[in-house]
Amino acid sequence: MTTDTSSAPNFIRNQIRDEIEAGRPGKIVTRFPPEPNGFLHIGHAKSICLNFGLAEQFGGDCHLRFDDTNPAKEEQAYIDAIQEDVSWLGFQWAGPVRFASDYFDQLYAWAQHLIREGKAYVDDLSPDEIREYRGTLTEPGRPSPYRERMADENLDLLERMRTGEFAEGEKVLRAKIDMASPNINLRDPILYRIRHAHHHQTGDKWKIYPSYDFTHGQSDAIEEVSHSICTLEFEDHRPLYEWFLDNLPVPARPRQIEFSRLNLNYTLTSKRKLKLLVDENIVDGWDDPRLPTIAGLRRRGYTPGSIRKFSEMIGVTRADGGLVDIAMLYHAIRADLEDNAPRAMAVLNPLKVVLTNVPEGHEEVFDVPGHPAREDMAVRKVPFTREIVIDHDDFMEEAPKKFFRLAPGREVRLRNSYVIRCDEVIKDANGEIEALHCSVDFDTLGKNPEGRKVKGVIHWVSATHGVPMEVRLYDNLFLEEQPDRDKEADFLDHLNPESLVVCQAIGEPSLSEVTPESRFQFERVGYFCADRHACRDGRRVFNRTVGLKDTWAKVQKQEAQKQEAQKQDAGKKG
Ligand code: ATP
Ligand code: MG
Repeated sequence: MTTDTSSAPNFIRNQIRDEIEAGRPGKIVTRFPPEPNGFLHIGHAKSICLNFGLAEQFGGDCHLRFDDTNPAKEEQAYIDAIQEDVSWLGFQWAGPVRFASDYFDQLYAWAQHLIREGKAYVDDLSPDEIREYRGTLTEPGRPSPYRERMADENLDLLERMRTGEFAEGEKVLRAKIDMASPNINLRDPILYRIRHAHHHQTGDKWKIYPSYDFTHGQSDAIEEVSHSICTLEFEDHRPLYEWFLDNLPVPARPRQIEFSRLNLNYTLTSKRKLKLLVDENIVDGWDDPRLPTIAGLRRRGYTPGSIRKFSEMIGVTRADGGLVDIAMLYHAIRADLEDNAPRAMAVLNPLKVVLTNVPEGHEEVFDVPGHPAREDMAVRKVPFTREIVIDHDDFMEEAPKKFFRLAPGREVRLRNSYVIRCDEVIKDANGEIEALHCSVDFDTLGKNPEGRKVKGVIHWVSATHGVPMEVRLYDNLFLEEQPDRDKEADFLDHLNPESLVVCQAIGEPSLSEVTPESRFQFERVGYFCADRHACRDGRRVFNRTVGLKDTWAKVQKQEAQKQEAQKQDAGKKG
C-alpha cells in the first residue's frame, strides 16, 4: 500500500514536454510575478514551485518579477520578504530581480504608439460613467463621447497626465477595441490611470500608472517569457493579453496558460484577508505560525522540501473550485520530519512522580538513539533520578480497563527505562493531585519481567535535570472548512478560539541548548520546531508543527481499500 501521491497530474508540464518532442525551438522561460502588497502564501508556493520547477526540468529560466503598478498598496518590506521566501523554498531566479516598473518608459512609448495608430484615446468620463457606459454581460457597452479624439490631442493629453497637470480620476487612457464585445475585458480597457503617488522604485517620476492588463503581457514579451502561467481568473483576460501582443511591436510572443488556484480548507489564501488578520492583531504578524504564509509555515516548522513535495502532490489542473484538504499539507511535513527530526522527550503538562525506591541523589544515565533509524544522529544522554515528571494526561485515578497508562496499582513502562507501579496518589488541601508515589522494578530494563504484560509506555523527564520550556500548540485558525465561503458574512466569525494554547513544559536535557529552527519529534506528542525569533538569551520556545496522527494517510488507505473492493466486486460480476 502506498500513500505517495507524487505523480499527480501536471498538464502544463505534459504540454511543454509535447511541445519539445514536436521540435519546439527556443528556451523555456517562465516567471513568478507577485504584487508586493503582502506576504506570499501557500497558493503562491504552488505557483513558485510550478514556474521554477518547469524552468529546472526543461533547462530554462524562471524570472522573479514584481508586478508593481499600484504604489499605494506596495512596500519595500514586502519586496524583501518575498525574495527571502522564494530563496528559502530553494529557488534561484535567473538574472536580477525584475520589476514591471523597469518597463514604464517602454510601456509609455507603446501607449503613444497605440494612440498614433488610432487604437487608444484619452477619456474624460468619470470612473462611475465609465462603469455605466461599459454595459453588462447581457447589454453591449456604449462608446464614450471622447472616443473619436484625434491622435495629436490624445498624445498631448497623455503627456500632460504624465506630468501631473490633472487630478486623479479626471482622465484615463483607454484602448480602442470594441464596446460591443461579448468579452467585457475588450470594451475599451483602461491602460493608464492618474495616481499622484510616490513609487518605491521610480520615486516621483510618474503621475500615471499602467493597468495590470497593459503591463503584464508586455513585460512578459520584453523578458522573452515563453510560457506565462497564471491562475484561471485571468482566462477572460487572455484575448486582451493577445490583442496587445498583436498590436504592439513587441520583441517576443509569450503564451498565457491558466491553471486552477490552490484553495486549502480551514484557512484563507487571499493576501487581502491575511492582511486584515495581521492589521487587526488577530495573529502575531505576517509570520504567525497559524497563517498559511510561507513565512508562517517556516516559523511553524515546515521545511522547504515539504512544501515542494506538497505542491507536487496536489498537481496542476484546470479544475476550478476544488478544496485541498489541509491534512495533505500536514502529511507532507510529517513524512519529512518522521525521517529527519531527532527524537526527544518533553512533558507538556507536568505531574511530579517520586520514585520511592530510588535513593536520593541517585544518578543514572541512559544512552538513547537520536532517531530509531538514523545512526548518524547523536546519541542522547537521558538522566534518570528519584524525581521525574510525566504528563498529567498519562495518569487517571479512576481508569477504565483499556487505559494502558498509569493508574493506582497499575504498571507502566517509562520510555527507554524501567517499569514503574503507582502506589499512592498525593493530593493537596483542595483535593488536587500534587504528585504520585511510584516504585521502580529494577529488573525491567529493556525487557518485560516473566509472566507480566506491561502494555503502556509513557514518556517522562527527570525533574532534577529537565529544562523548562514554553511550548506553543498551534491548531487551525478557523473552525469552518471554508471560512470565507459566505460572501455576506464575516470570516472572522469562524476563528478557532483554541488556535493557540501555550504550555509551560519540561524537556530532557538534550533540548537545553536549542538552535532556532531546529526540529524535533517529542516522543508520543508530535513534531516541534524551535521558534526562530523567541529562542534567544537562553529562552526555549517550541512551536508545534504537526501532531503524530496522519489522517491523510488514513484517508488514502480507506480510499485504496474501497477501490480494491470495487475492483473485486466488478471482477466477480464480470
Ligand atoms: P491574492 O489573491 O492572495 O492577493 P494574487 O493573485 O493577487 O493573490 P499575486 O501577487 O498577484 O497575488 O500573485 C502572484 C502569482 O501567484 C500569480 O501568478 C498568481 O496567479 C499566483 N497565485 C496567487 N494565489 C494563488 C493560489 N491560491 N494558487 C495558485 N497560484 C496563486
Ligand atoms: Mg494579483
